[in-house]
Amino acid sequence: MAYDDQNIFARILRGEIPCDKVFENDHALAFKDINPQAPTHVLVIPKGPYVSADDFSAKASDAEIAGFMRAIGDTARALGLPDAGYRILANHGTNAGQEVPHFHIHIFGGKPLGPMLAR
Ligand code: AMP
Repeated sequence: MAYDDQNIFARILRGEIPCDKVFENDHALAFKDINPQAPTHVLVIPKGPYVSADDFSAKASDAEIAGFMRAIGDTARALGLPDAGYRILANHGTNAGQEVPHFHIHIFGGKPLGPMLAR
């Protein structure tokens, strides 16, 4: 799938749409999910134009991958999540119900999160 530069996260990265920023580094931006599914629900996105986890893992540079992974940990620590625990999740494609075609990791925390998958 080709990258659509009009997707909502691309527009957030360009500053065309506001976000509630939590953390940023050279390669990633973290902001609160607009429809939180847990007391803490944050999205971490790479700044580059990657459609999904598959696209990112195949095409991103080592520096982008490192910067993105660092951002996940830095964001979770900034939110005070590591002691109590948290979950990270990425939806790729139709079976996972991916809605926004710009790669993103969800960080959930703030309460016991229950089973890993809906039953
Ligand atoms: P996914 O189903 O993994 O593609 O998740 C997309 C997520 O993006 C959902 O949890 C939405 O609530 C969230 N979302 C959509 N638009 C915005 C926005 N403008 N700001 C923050 N989060 C958003």
